[in-house]
Amino acid sequence: MKIQEIKISQEVLALKAEMIGLRRHFHQYPELGNKEVKTGKYIAGYLKKLGLDVKENIAKTGVIGLLKGNYAGKTILYRADMDALEIDEKNNVEYKSKHTGIVHMCGHDAHMAIALITAKLFSAQKNKLRGNIKFVFQPSEELIPGGAKAMIEEGVMKNPKVGGALGLHVWQDLAVGKVGIKPGPLFASIDLVSLRVIGKGGHGAMPQYTVDPIMISAHIITSLQALITREIDPLQSSVLTFGQIHAGTACNIIPEESFLQGSLRCFNPEIRKYAAKRITEISKGIADAFDGRCEVDIARGHPTVNNDPEFTSIVLQAARETVPNDNISNDCNNMGSEDMAYFLNKAPGCLFLLGTSNKEKGLTSKHHSPRFNIDEDALPIGAEIVRKTILKFLNLQ
Ligand SMILES: [Zn+2]
Ligand SMILES: [Zn+2]
Repeated sequence: MKIQEIKISQEVLALKAEMIGLRRHFHQYPELGNKEVKTGKYIAGYLKKLGLDVKENIAKTGVIGLLKGNYAGKTILYRADMDALEIDEKNNVEYKSKHTGIVHMCGHDAHMAIALITAKLFSAQKNKLRGNIKFVFQPSEELIPGGAKAMIEEGVMKNPKVGGALGLHVWQDLAVGKVGIKPGPLFASIDLVSLRVIGKGGHGAMPQYTVDPIMISAHIITSLQALITREIDPLQSSVLTFGQIHAGTACNIIPEESFLQGSLRCFNPEIRKYAAKRITEISKGIADAFDGRCEVDIARGHPTVNNDPEFTSIVLQAARETVPNDNISNDCNNMGSEDMAYFLNKAPGCLFLLGTSNKEKGLTSKHHSPRFNIDEDALPIGAEIVRKTILKFLNLQ
């Protein structure tokens, strides 16, 4: 990708250095979900200085900055998320995280930087702005149930009523200069599956006197994978992953219990419902068959991210005016999940993906890896597409 093929306005380019500085500031001082106290304060301070109408501590640490245009019109919500992850950073960069064991390894630092710079850009032009821009900085995207749902419950979609919702996620599967824009489903729904298998403990040499919860758990895991591959239409994507299994204390003791936790991800809400029902039936049925018991808890997480076709076509237009057409991919749906889904269920909108990897610079580590890092040249590209989308949506251009 040649950088001269990218068309970024002078007003965005003039703020590139500040945007990178903001991203590096957030990178150095990361905070975990629902604990983004200093991050929220910093954002609120920045937005107040710009003259926005700022509300703090929404859904714990969330911040809303409302920019009212001089002319009455629609309201667009632009979302950034604020939380970092519990990971030890392995990057040797001058702006390395100063909080041991916590770091922005999903790029939310970049999301906040782009959003603040967008607020700065538009606040300088509020005299000619038609409509309103609601800058939303949500807590806790990485946790279930996530901050988006809580902010909606506290009224973020009202006063003024939101007519469209926009968000972006930096994306390492796409090289810098590329973007992923897709109408319809983009990210899958997620549910948290917790299983407690209760058996009867005893001596490892005398299993006849016990009910072995580890052996039962092994059967449950295998059978639940068969549920995904044998009962669900292969054309309907779904995945079940157990990321935790805990049981036992020694090689010769059969424990009383085992605990398993996993995530179920689907695109189709009917399949989501069906899979949850069958996970419960199969787990309980297998435990019962072996004379044990299984307690099942399935906590509903984020719904599917569904991009509105009409709103997405505005983002696509904005992207086409910024990067070459070949750099825009619509083959970017995946089984990850994002709580932007809640905003998109309340207003037509779009979450798009901003390419941030760069092989030549060695920036290829994926999200949530301890070596994740982005090419900061992507930041003005993101800001430019956001700027153009907002202007188009508010009918200024
Ligand atoms: Zn993440
Ligand atoms: Zn993320």
